[in-house]
Amino acid sequence: MPARPTPQPGVMQIAPYVPGRSGAGSGSTEKIAKLSSNESPLGASPKAIAALEGLGDVVASYPDGSSMALREAIAQVHGLEARCLIIGAGSDELLHLLAQTYLGEGDEAVISQFGFLVYPIVTRGAGATPVVAKDNDFCVDVDAMLGAVTQRTKVVFLANPNNPTGTYISQAELERLHAGLRPDTLLVVDSAYAEYVTADDYAAGERLVRANDNVVMVRTFSKIGLAALRIGWMYGPAHIVDALNRLRGPFNVNRAAQLAGEAAVKDVEFIARLKAHNRKWRDWLGDELNCNQIRILPSQGNFVLALFAEDGGKSAKEASKALLEAGLIVREMGAYGLPDALRISIGEDRAMRAVAKVLKGLGK
Ligand SMILES: *Cc1c(COP(=O)(O)O)cnc(C)c1O
Repeated sequence: MPARPTPQPGVMQIAPYVPGRSGAGSGSTEKIAKLSSNESPLGASPKAIAALEGLGDVVASYPDGSSMALREAIAQVHGLEARCLIIGAGSDELLHLLAQTYLGEGDEAVISQFGFLVYPIVTRGAGATPVVAKDNDFCVDVDAMLGAVTQRTKVVFLANPNNPTGTYISQAELERLHAGLRPDTLLVVDSAYAEYVTADDYAAGERLVRANDNVVMVRTFSKIGLAALRIGWMYGPAHIVDALNRLRGPFNVNRAAQLAGEAAVKDVEFIARLKAHNRKWRDWLGDELNCNQIRILPSQGNFVLALFAEDGGKSAKEASKALLEAGLIVREMGAYGLPDALRISIGEDRAMRAVAKVLKGLGK
């Protein structure tokens, strides 16, 4: 008999998730720009903030357990059916629910080489095994994903665009991936950065969901100004929404999140402003920094991945240190198996100019 409670076998195989750092540590006097968590550089929608007024009057009672008003607002804005939506405390919660519902011991989940780190966490948490498909030049390789599928594969996780690479696959490639899967394999399309995509041949996944019984699309409010409130949503076939709702905590989304989310999704003008700001500085940063020493991957997200010389992380670490000294916090990528890369969120104008200045001055 064990001398103390023992975690389920998959749990201790999880490498703890390390969030982006948010302070430069002691001794720093510079104004800090946090470019490590892909948050909104323009704050939250003013309408979302206004919706939080009067919250004090309602905190004593439970929120609506089905997040009905928020689901209806999302359905209206995105042209979806409210009954096929489920809201989570961040999309992280929905990814956990999907894994708990569709994965178990002996099952496998296919993920891409540099895919979002939450996928292996939720997979192992459910007792299943993550199977990694190699990328092709930092882009998801549909043939490799399909090649990684076995009889044991129950779920395929795809972030599109992907975090941290910023690369994406086209609608045609997404459909080809789906077409290669058995009908009992669930395709999870995580479109966390859909609001920032500018590519014409991209699809967030609504159509694929509607036409099939084995596809869901997961989205988030975290990258469009409401990261603190933890709001994610999933669009899926009614049978999957029903299964998740059975496992979901009955009051998983708090009242503040529901109120602000409803106002934020309707504030299409603010989201358009965010997208325009992002596009401008994403392009600008790529143009400024792409040179022989640094390669900026083409990004469809609200961040770029900068690749430095392949020297076991030495150049990337030096760049990160120089940025930090200038008050600019970016994300080191060792946890993703990318020691020679830094992920830089698109921030305010001033922060973007400062990033370019520091990185162009390296080694001079
Ligand atoms: C940020 C992100 C999420 C979202 O997380 P929340 O839990 O909604 O904050 C999901 N997937 C990817 C790929 C992300 O980068």
